[in-house]
Amino acid sequence: DSFEELDLGEVIANNVRRCKYTKPTPVQRYAIPIGLAGRDIMACAQTGSGKTAAFCFPIISGLLKGGYQPTGRQRKALPAALILAPTRELTSQIYEEARKFSHQSGIRPVVIYGGAPVVNQLREMERGCDMLVATPGRLSDLIERARVSLAAIRYLALDEADRMLDMGFEPQIRRIVEGEDMPPTGQRQTMLFSATFPKEIQRLAADFLHDYIFLTV
Ligand code: AMP
Repeated sequence: DSFEELDLGEVIANNVRRCKYTKPTPVQRYAIPIGLAGRDIMACAQTGSGKTAAFCFPIISGLLKGGYQPTGRQRKALPAALILAPTRELTSQIYEEARKFSHQSGIRPVVIYGGAPVVNQLREMERGCDMLVATPGRLSDLIERARVSLAAIRYLALDEADRMLDMGFEPQIRRIVEGEDMPPTGQRQTMLFSATFPKEIQRLAADFLHDYIFLTV
């Protein structure tokens, strides 16, 4: 019951030590091996359960093991990983964690959310955007303005999916995930996290996931 038993790779193993995480939380313990094996996941997990690492570790580790080359400067962002979350606060928290986990990996996370000027966010994206953390509304905006393409997405995570639906984001989420730009299920790895599992989330899981493993912690 330790991070050493998980095959995370050197970079993440070092960053786990820097974060002073001594042992994986339950959701990490179960989700990380499944994520590292490349499988889609539907996980029911609460806030504070350590789910950010549960989806970030497989993404970062998978990119590094696959010989991923960071994008560098670009006018139109072409991220390899996308994380959708409902609010400015949550996207900012995920971004801060992703920065720690990707330290010295060359992978550059960027965060975009609504209710704040877009210029600074665009400037950050232009400096290179490998892992994009976004609220659905702001991302839809920037896709329409041709400042983001999802054509290179290999990893997709949806965090607090039930809250995103409660906030009315389903149309934007569907436009993003089922849009023509996004690689279809089976050609990307998708991890869906939600505190609850009502009918609407079951439908999202059926539509967005491919041959997935269901986890509840
Ligand atoms: P999350 O549920 O991802 O928002 O994580 C909740 C908090 O727990 C964050 O402050 C994390 O940095 C922290 N955390 C996550 N995983 C671990 C772990 N394995 N050991 C100690 N703290 C952790």
